[in-house]
Amino acid sequence: MLNIVLFGPPGAGKGTQSAKLIEKYQLVHLSTGDIFRANIKGGTELGVLAKSFIDQGKLVPDEVTIGMLASEVNKQSDPKGFIFDGFPRTSAQAEALDKLLESKNTGISMMLALEVEEEELRKRLLIRGKDSGRADDQDPAVIQKRIDVYNAETMPVKGYYSGQNKYKGIPGVGEIDTIFDALCVEIDRA
Ligand code: AMP
Repeated sequence: MLNIVLFGPPGAGKGTQSAKLIEKYQLVHLSTGDIFRANIKGGTELGVLAKSFIDQGKLVPDEVTIGMLASEVNKQSDPKGFIFDGFPRTSAQAEALDKLLESKNTGISMMLALEVEEEELRKRLLIRGKDSGRADDQDPAVIQKRIDVYNAETMPVKGYYSGQNKYKGIPGVGEIDTIFDALCVEIDRA
């Protein structure tokens, strides 16, 4: 199986690149942010809980997020592989993902990290907020909180995969197709 963690700060382009990657490599796309938003829209119990954290730019607690992700992985029968987009965001999530995949006799093939400067992220998120209507992209204070949470809680996940020699950094600025090509080079090399 080809199991990719697509990593990067909010606004790095993970969603955009995931859409192109799943088409080319026929992978299952699991975006925890998308799943939370679908639950919020559907008014589920999980959605109500997730919203209280998302609106403040905080991470949804690990046990909730890990449980949800595991059930999504378990729903798939005979997948070619997964793109994990926006997960794992903490070291505990990374460890839980390894255990889950190990129980299925597979593992993470690589972490592809889109690298983008903070100033560029702030600009992109505000533009996305106008286009998508996402509330957490419209408030500069919430955007800053998400970037701070990324630096404090999510950056250690990079070390987790570097330690396994699975980390590949890719510049996330420039044309969408150029960035996509760079991602494909890393995937095809593996
Ligand atoms: P995203 O669409 O990936 O930017 O996620 C939007 C929001 O959903 C984040 O700011 C978090 O509040 C929440 N979220 C998404 N993925 C996770 C995760 N892996 N762990 C905790 N919270 C998450």
